[in-house]
Amino acid sequence: MSYITSGQTHQIEMMYGGHPHHESFQEMLQTFGQLVESKVLPAEKKTEMERAQDSLKSLAFQLRQSGKYDQQALETAIAQTKKNEKIPDAVYRQITDFGLPGMAFSEPLGGLEIPYPVFMACLETLGKASPSVGVRYAISNTVAEGLRFNYEAGQLSGYGESILRELIAGEKLGGFALTEGSAAGSNILKEMITRAVPLQNGNGYRITGAKMFITNVETADVFAVFARTSEPAGNDLGISLFLVEKGTKGFKVGQVFEKRTVENSSLGELILDEVEVSQEHLVGEAGCGAPYAMRMLNSGRITIAALATGLAQRAFDEYMAVAVEGKKLGDQHLIELDRTQARVAEMSMEILAARDMTCHAAWLKTLFDTNPDDRELLRDYVIASNGAKLKASLAAQQACDHLVKIWGASAVIKENPAMKHFLDSWLYYFGEAVPEVLENTIAHMEVKKYKKAKGL
Ligand SMILES: Cc1cc2nc3c(=O)[nH]c(=O)nc-3n(C[C@H](O)[C@H](O)[C@H](O)COP(=O)(O)OP(=O)(O)OC[C@H]3O[C@@H](n4cnc5c(N)ncnc54)[C@H](O)[C@@H]3O)c2cc1C
Repeated sequence: MSYITSGQTHQIEMMYGGHPHHESFQEMLQTFGQLVESKVLPAEKKTEMERAQDSLKSLAFQLRQSGKYDQQALETAIAQTKKNEKIPDAVYRQITDFGLPGMAFSEPLGGLEIPYPVFMACLETLGKASPSVGVRYAISNTVAEGLRFNYEAGQLSGYGESILRELIAGEKLGGFALTEGSAAGSNILKEMITRAVPLQNGNGYRITGAKMFITNVETADVFAVFARTSEPAGNDLGISLFLVEKGTKGFKVGQVFEKRTVENSSLGELILDEVEVSQEHLVGEAGCGAPYAMRMLNSGRITIAALATGLAQRAFDEYMAVAVEGKKLGDQHLIELDRTQARVAEMSMEILAARDMTCHAAWLKTLFDTNPDDRELLRDYVIASNGAKLKASLAAQQACDHLVKIWGASAVIKENPAMKHFLDSWLYYFGEAVPEVLENTIAHMEVKKYKKAKGL
C-alpha cells in the first residue's frame, strides 16, 4: 500500500484529469509519497521512540550505580540524547532537494510551477508522517507567499526578491513572526506592541519588541516580522512588514520551549532589541502589514488544513487497524459493533470533507492570485481557506480522540503513538487562528456577500 491514499489520487484526477501534465502530477505525488514513507516517517518514529524510552534517565541511573557519575559524562549524554531526538539534517535536505519549498512557485522565480492543489496533496502526505516536518515547510511557504504577491504587484525591493528566490530554492528557511506574548494571539493586529521607528537618516527602521510562539525559531534564516509603524486610525492598523535575518545586530532567539506537541519543530521567542534594518527590508508599503498578514494567513491556513488532513488520515488508518484486527470483545472485533461503525463512517466523511475543502480553497487561491482585484472572488477564497482550516483541524482532533479511546489503557503508554497524535492535533487547533476567529471571519464574509447580493 502506498503512503499516498486513493482519496488524494482521485482528487488530483478530478482536478487535472484532462490536463497535459496530469500523469506527471500523479507520478510526482507518488514519488514524494515514497520519499516521505522511506525517510520522514522512520525518522519521526525513531525520535519518538527515543523520547519514549527516556534513555537519559536510565543512563543517569547507570552512571550513579557504577560510581562514574560526573557532570561532564551527563552533559555528553544529554547532548547525544538531544541529537537522537532530532530529525537528521539529511532528511530535510532530501525534501528540499525534491523541490518542495519551490513546488508551487513560478519557473521564472526558480519554482517548479506545480498547481497549488498538488502542492497541498504533498503537504498532506508530509503531515501524515510528521506534523513537525510539515509545519516547518508550511510556515516557510507562508513567508515566501507574502513576498511573492508583493513581488508580483511590483512592490518588492531587490533585497526582498533575493530572499524570495532563496526561500523558493530551499537555500533559506523562513519564520513568520506575528504573535506576541503580551496579547491574545487572536487580537494581535490590534494590540501589537513591537514598534519600528524610522531611522534619522531616512534609510530604514529600528525595530524593538518581542515575538512569541514562533515556529522555526531556531532553524529559520529569515523572519517576516510584523511591527507597528504608526498608531491605529480607523481601518488603518498602522502595521508594517519587515524581513529580518538571523544574525542581525540586536536580534536574538529568547526562550525555546520544550513542548508536548510537534516536538521535532522548534517553537519560541524572538527578541528584537533596537534592530536596525535598511529600507530594503520593508516588504511592500509601510502601513500595509495588516492586510499582508491576512493575505499570508489566507494561504497559510490552507497549508495547515492540508497537514491536519494528513494527521486525521494517519489517526484514521491506525484506528482501523485496531478496530478490524486488534483486540476483541469476546469473539467480536470492535468493527463489528454498531458504535464503532458509526465512528468509522463519521471520520471517513470528515476526512473526505476536509480534503475536498482544502483542495477547493487551494484552487480558489490560484484563481485569486491571478485576479487579486476581484473582491467577490476574495470573499469566496477567504471563506474557503478559513473553512478548510476549521474543518480539517477539527477532523484531526476528532480522529485522534477516537484513536486514543479505541486503544483503551494502552493509549497512555509512551511507546503508543496515539497520544502523540492527539497532542500534535493542537498545533492545528491553535496555529494560525482558533476556531472562533475562523468562524467570525467566515460569518463576516457571508454577511458581506449577502449585503452585496441584496444591494444593502
Ligand atoms: C505549535 C504552535 C505554533 C505556532 N507558530 C506560530 C508562528 O510561527 N508564528 C506566529 O506568529 N504565531 C504562532 N503561533 C501562535 C498562534 O498563531 C496563536 O496560538 C493563535 O493565534 C491563537 O492565539 P492564542 O494562542 O494567544 O489564543 P487566544 O487568542 O488567547 O485564544 C484562546 C481562547 O480564547 C477564546 N477566543 C479567542 N478569540 C475568540 C473569539 N473571537 N470569540 C470567542 N472566543 C475566543 C477561545 O476559547 C480560544 O481558544 C503558534 C502556536 C502554536 C500552538
